[in-house]
Amino acid sequence: MTTPYNHTDYRFWHPMAHPNDWAEREPLRIVKGDGLYIWDDKGRKMLDGFAGLWCVNVGHNRPEVKAAITKQMDELAYYQLFDGVSHPMAEALSNRLIQMTQQEDMRRVLYGMGGSDGVETALKVARQYWILQGKPQRTRFISLKNAYHGVHMGGTSVSGLPIYRLNYGPMLEGCTQIESPWQYRNPWNCDDPDTLGKLVAEQLEREILYYGPDTVAAFIAEPVQGAGGVIVPPANFWPLVREICDKYGVLLIADEVVTGFGRSGAMFGSRGWGVKPDIMVFAKALTAGYVPLSATVLNQRIEAAYLDNRDARGLLMTGFTYGGHPLACAAGLAVLDIVEQENLPANAAHQGEYLLGQLLPFESRFRSVGNVRGKGLMLALDLVEDKASKRTLAPDNGLAFRIAEAARDAGAVVRPVGPKLVLAPPLTIDKAGCDTLVLALQTAFEKEDR
Ligand code: PMP
Repeated sequence: MTTPYNHTDYRFWHPMAHPNDWAEREPLRIVKGDGLYIWDDKGRKMLDGFAGLWCVNVGHNRPEVKAAITKQMDELAYYQLFDGVSHPMAEALSNRLIQMTQQEDMRRVLYGMGGSDGVETALKVARQYWILQGKPQRTRFISLKNAYHGVHMGGTSVSGLPIYRLNYGPMLEGCTQIESPWQYRNPWNCDDPDTLGKLVAEQLEREILYYGPDTVAAFIAEPVQGAGGVIVPPANFWPLVREICDKYGVLLIADEVVTGFGRSGAMFGSRGWGVKPDIMVFAKALTAGYVPLSATVLNQRIEAAYLDNRDARGLLMTGFTYGGHPLACAAGLAVLDIVEQENLPANAAHQGEYLLGQLLPFESRFRSVGNVRGKGLMLALDLVEDKASKRTLAPDNGLAFRIAEAARDAGAVVRPVGPKLVLAPPLTIDKAGCDTLVLALQTAFEKEDR
């Protein structure tokens, strides 16, 4: 039962929005989810084309996940993990994660409650690693423009989307961003992927040399940039990044909060690019959003730095009351069973290719669609005022929002992000689900994009 909407009783402020934008406008109120579908309080059934917020990868209302959470609730709802205390669920999930990342030489797991916690932990561990190496001056972080790494102060400081930093300065010292390896829009007007990958990698090397390798702690990036608008780097980019990081000793942090566990069509985004990071950050899909959890996974190089040290410099004074919550770990184990048993990374690759093939013709069919792109089940449509110049829609244009609203009426939820529409359905989607999504979008474009 939901109460009828009444804006004077609406006490809640939406994150990522201006409170005044929603002062008198009725929000989309979701009351039920099952499989690929969600329902709003008006009884409208819609395909969840954004999997909640890139996270409900196994679909809604899975009995296996619910049973695992309930079973754990009956046994032990909560216990902590600080300083020599543990519970079987945290141990089991850690072993599972290390087994799944064997190929990346991962060894240890630290937990938080969400992606922002996971990123913050990664940044702190990276700085501590260099203290343990006797190089405390290695504190800088380099990241990419258009990057999103969560909302804590560290993650905000390495963010490459200025709007997230704008009102929250001063930022963490020593964080800089290089160009994003974005084929559709880059300062070189370069649309040859190989050349672009090299150009951005060269920028990384120049940035490291400009500040001095002895000052750089880590480079952090998403294997496919998500919130920045599904920016798929050229295939040579990540391998080149790994080479440059190795050349100067810089740690490589892969923020796999969106790409982890199959979304980009490989089990991990970095694995898809053939690269082994030093630190991997997981959240979202790890528990498919059923219970919040993040895991920051550290490789053998980082483990050794801590184990070779016995003084206070090696104390891990970072952790969260609810990090590795038993209910979340139980959910995580059940979700990872589904990911592996149903081979969701392969399904994401397969259905993603189909979806992209269905959406690419929108570039010629609709006036405002400048570019359609994607990898696996992360896809975006860039809306422009003018296709030739790629001039983007004015910030107050609202077309993406209107199309998203019309798509809901036509049976699917997609996410408007500025002048872009982003799609990230559950990885359990089939061809019929992809067709529903495409048809809803097509109906919405036919209505709004004239
Ligand atoms: N990193 C990336 C790549 C993300 O996409 C997100 C969330 N969209 C985060 C970190 C932050 O995760 P959370 O919102 O769970 O804190």
